[in-house]
Amino acid sequence: MVRIRGLRKSFGANLVLDGIDLDVREGEVTVLLGPSGSGKSTLLRSINHLEKPDAGFVEVGGEIIGYRHHGSRLHELGHRTITRQRAAVGMVFQQFNLFPHLTVLENIIEAPVAVRGLTRKSAAVQARELLERVGLDGRESAYPRQLSGGQQQRVAIARALAMEPRLLLFDEPTSALDPELVGEVLAVMRDLALSGMTMIVVTHEIGFAREVADSVVFLDGGRVIESGAPADVLDNPGHDRARAFLAAVL
Ligand code: ATP
Ligand code: MG
Repeated sequence: MVRIRGLRKSFGANLVLDGIDLDVREGEVTVLLGPSGSGKSTLLRSINHLEKPDAGFVEVGGEIIGYRHHGSRLHELGHRTITRQRAAVGMVFQQFNLFPHLTVLENIIEAPVAVRGLTRKSAAVQARELLERVGLDGRESAYPRQLSGGQQQRVAIARALAMEPRLLLFDEPTSALDPELVGEVLAVMRDLALSGMTMIVVTHEIGFAREVADSVVFLDGGRVIESGAPADVLDNPGHDRARAFLAAVL
């Protein structure tokens, strides 16, 4: 489903992704771990073409993101095609990013109506199903500020699902939450994983990685320094940097 090869990205003199290779199979969950500044968010953002690679490429579902082949070179795609590609990859952020002036329902139906061309009515039917799925049925008329952080994050997940993505990216989805609200968001993510959704999750929730992930990838300095089954990477890291990080977060 996802194939990343030789991905490189610098910001000025700061080399942030230093030749990333990564594969995620359909229906699998990959957890990305690594210290602050190791390039986790930049890698996720590259998958959605929110960052353009300096070299290498990202493929989702066999399609290169943001570019097409032109002879032996890659040319950037037009805005419309990039918008279509982005619509197939959902993203959930640490800070929820809900529209504060829209209700829960309006937040969820906005993109399906604007981008997928659904009628408001059919988008609303789908939104209510999604709210039930994330345990928020009956809250469609609430505004984000009236909800807890955990509820807002579950709305953000429903909003991402409303685009019927083939891949979901999560960037520290529980890091901004009070500890007692983390579990309800992880439970929704676990259900999604069980339903077969392909997911890449940046999180320091090691328990989630151990129970839900099919593979764990450890980034350091813009490189993959460990990857494999959760038990192998978490219990038996080969690198000192990974061992030190895990000792600190566990
Ligand atoms: P954290 O755990 O703190 O979220 P991260 O692993 O997600 O860290 P990134 O956000 O990908 O790390 O950042 C990697 C490096 O790239 C950092 O040094 C950061 O300062 C730099 N960086 C990220 N985005 C930009 C940008 N738009 N412009 C300049 N530098 C950036
Ligand atoms: Mg980050």
